[in-house]
Amino acid sequence: MRPLNFDNRFVAELPGDPESANTRRPVHGAAWSRVAPTPVAAPRLLAWSKEVAALLDFDEGDVQDPCFAEVFAGNRLIEGMVPFATNYGGHQFGVWAGQLGDGRAISLGEVVNRRGERWEVQLKGAGPTPYSRGADGRAVLRSSVREFLCSEAMHHLGVPTTRALSLVATGESVVRDMFYDGRPAPEPGAIVCRVAPSFIRLGHFELPASRGDRDLLERLVHFTIDRDFPHLVAAHPDDTVARRAAWFTEVCERTAVTIAHWMRVGFVHGVMNTDNLSVIGLTIDYGPYGWLDDFDPDFTPNTTDAQGRRYRYANQPAVGQWNLARLGGALVPIFPDPAPLHAALERYAAVYSDTHRALTAAKFGWRAWRDSDEQLVREAFDLLHRGEIDFTLFFRALAEVDPAVPSLAPFVDAFYRDAARERIAGDLLAWLTRWGARVAQDDEPTGARRARMHAVNPCYVLRNYLAQQAIDAAEAGDPSEITALLDVMRRPYEAQSGRERYAARRPEWARHKAGCSMLSCSS
Ligand code: AMP
Ligand code: MG
Repeated sequence: MRPLNFDNRFVAELPGDPESANTRRPVHGAAWSRVAPTPVAAPRLLAWSKEVAALLDFDEGDVQDPCFAEVFAGNRLIEGMVPFATNYGGHQFGVWAGQLGDGRAISLGEVVNRRGERWEVQLKGAGPTPYSRGADGRAVLRSSVREFLCSEAMHHLGVPTTRALSLVATGESVVRDMFYDGRPAPEPGAIVCRVAPSFIRLGHFELPASRGDRDLLERLVHFTIDRDFPHLVAAHPDDTVARRAAWFTEVCERTAVTIAHWMRVGFVHGVMNTDNLSVIGLTIDYGPYGWLDDFDPDFTPNTTDAQGRRYRYANQPAVGQWNLARLGGALVPIFPDPAPLHAALERYAAVYSDTHRALTAAKFGWRAWRDSDEQLVREAFDLLHRGEIDFTLFFRALAEVDPAVPSLAPFVDAFYRDAARERIAGDLLAWLTRWGARVAQDDEPTGARRARMHAVNPCYVLRNYLAQQAIDAAEAGDPSEITALLDVMRRPYEAQSGRERYAARRPEWARHKAGCSMLSCSS
């Protein structure tokens, strides 16, 4: 395996924990702790992403080298790696939770590739760290398959996200109480190698702020802007206040854009705690996430959130702003005047609204959003909900409807229940007639409109039941479906012949099956 070029700025420039023992404890005044991965019994490479390998300048030969599985299981360090876990806090389900930190994530370092791009390489599930609290630092195969696949699927869908290089089985078992019903059982363990320009979260800033550690807070802000937002240093070379204001504004803008894309593709994150939001606006921490099948704005895949449904599909834009307000609150001590913080939070709302409207117009096949479209869109989502129509299939089918002579024929596969279809058939046809009239106003050739619609309405999304099938096969010893699924998700907007089954609505057997509709946080 070829060497990597490391330039570990996080540990070089931010204060580290002087204590070197790997014991669980509060860590004050430091952004990270040195900690080595704990070796595992029998690393075996189950899947890898060729695109992410290329980001690190690896080719197929590097990946197939037995050293690769050893390194990305945490059994072996290569020249330049300085493994560390970072210190952060967070608001979990609306409540301040204090110090959390990388309890099972260990960064190996920051790679600078041939193109000069910086990619931090991080193992998830590589053993305990000072931040592991009561847990074991490990991850089960099922959650690792889900993180590996969804990271890459989201990238190919055009949604900002952390990436995944590899999925390695550990050859060890991990005990989990999957249903939180007092029946813990051993499951196969795995490690995902995540890759991103930065793994800094909103909670990294909240923790020192909560402790009144202004010095660490300032250093973190300075570091983040310098490493992850260098264009802002160039734009405001001498004005720290303006630079910080521009930074928080950009954090808000990026978060708004990412969440607008979640809404576009029907993704529900499931655990939007402030420790699970990236400061560079990436989708991060794939846990009990899910995808809309039959449209329901209140859908959440997370069983832990089934009561309050704080992180339900339709609430994600508001939660994004709530989370950013927690970050804004943490930054108050280093802003002479809080006005720019308030303005940035308002900017979040404006950017979300503009992006969401533009994407919604594209989904419906209109050239641009008009305020008068609001009513038609609201009625469409009401029909989708009442008619239990598949979110993804609806928009693909809509592109096939002739605006001049609408019919329900293209939607034949999008319904989950006959009774619901019959209930709304008349209303849907009437709606399609009005939609057709709106499309006609744009006066755009059908082919061009259809191509624009297909570019924002995926044919394939990583439906939970598809991931679960890959998991079941992998647990039974055959990981090939993981790679097969990844290959389909590489071109999500293109109908791929022979792969129709991957575009199908959730089958009935999956409606209530664990992993296919609802998931616990246990992972
Ligand atoms: P999550 O909401 O799943 O992203 O995790 C919240 C916190 O719990 C983070 O600080 C994680 O590092 C930590 N955590 C989750 N699972 C484990 C585990 N198996 N071992 C150690 N820490 C964990
Ligand atoms: Mg997390």
